[in-house]
Amino acid sequence: MFEKGYIDENYVRVSRDELFSFVVKVLMKLGVPKEDAEIVADNLIMADLRGIESHGVQRLKRYVDGILSGGINLKPNIRIVREGASYALIDGDEGLGQVVGYKAMKLAIEKAKKSGIGVVVVRNSNHYGIAGYYALMAAVEGMIGISMTNSRPLVAPTGGVERFLGTNPIALAAPTKDKPFLLDMATSVVPIGKLEVYRRKGKPIPEGWAIDSEGNITTDVEKVFNGGALLPLGGFGELFGGHKGYGLSVMVDILAGILSGGTWSRHVKNTSERHSEVDHFFMAINIEAFVPLEEFKEKMSRMIEELKSSKRHKDFERIWIHGEKGFLTMQTRLKIGIPIYKKVLEELNQIAEMVGVEKL
Ligand code: NDP
Repeated sequence: MFEKGYIDENYVRVSRDELFSFVVKVLMKLGVPKEDAEIVADNLIMADLRGIESHGVQRLKRYVDGILSGGINLKPNIRIVREGASYALIDGDEGLGQVVGYKAMKLAIEKAKKSGIGVVVVRNSNHYGIAGYYALMAAVEGMIGISMTNSRPLVAPTGGVERFLGTNPIALAAPTKDKPFLLDMATSVVPIGKLEVYRRKGKPIPEGWAIDSEGNITTDVEKVFNGGALLPLGGFGELFGGHKGYGLSVMVDILAGILSGGTWSRHVKNTSERHSEVDHFFMAINIEAFVPLEEFKEKMSRMIEELKSSKRHKDFERIWIHGEKGFLTMQTRLKIGIPIYKKVLEELNQIAEMVGVEKL
């Protein structure tokens, strides 16, 4: 049974269903409608199931803080501001990012069913969790799904030291004959959630992930949290393509932020603040409008097979395709439970006590 990440005695296993109903109960106690609470829980738990610990239930506290501080609107009027046959602009009215994102991608898929393509841009939302969640929604409908969001400033542009860009993730999912292809990635070397995991474990971060406030590459996670910045995908400077990650991040700000009439990462705020101004971009491409779906899936699977059976480097056991580790991890965790770091479990149980639901 394959599982992503490093799991040791500091983790305890909780079943998917137990965790799901825990998150739903916590959110409902805080006033989130059941249907919405289930969308948020599904998104967070999909992250844990797929081995993305940084964006799983360890983030629940952030949403709870956002709700308690009034930064999140629990009864948003998520409305279409403009629309045509294949596009729409949505105002999220500061609702939970997952709920706004889910509705927006649903709309993109509906439009793609009728007109071949659906592009939905969203302004005035909140942190929406893993970008891949929405891309996969399209893939299970036999479409290509694309999802992007801007996020609060954490990344320095190439040549800069200041936090300016978000970790602005990009996801693309496409169906195959088997599991969908899923590229889901931050446009920084790592998302901030990975540093939170290292911080919680008291471990130094690998060299090349981040800089301190002076712009020196650092392994001291505290220096990054105290005025430092993450590096764009490709790392420091131009040598390994840092400028390209920087460009991809700006691309997300253009498509999600400026195109929606929203803003760009520098002006995006935390979930706990009012008007955090997070913006998203969703696209669904109806494959059948271009080529027969079966032909597409067949070619996807053949391409992946060729990739995976191409000549391998001696230091690598296998060549993976994007989404594969996540799906195998999900299969494992659905059987034996999701590993939760003990400190995260304590935090979740403190939340349970505070809102008055049964502890995990
Ligand atoms: P990773 O670096 O873990 O993975 C990036 C992609 O590469 C995934 O599709 C992964 O698939 C794939 N992959 C991993 N190893 C290999 C390999 N050897 N060969 C081929 N493909 C591989 O992602 P990040 O740490 O950059 O991002 C983690 C999550 O954080 C994402 O879900 C992202 O959406 C989210 N995020 C959300 C933000 C927000 O503001 N909402 C901000 C930033 C990030 P697999 O899953 O199968 O491993």
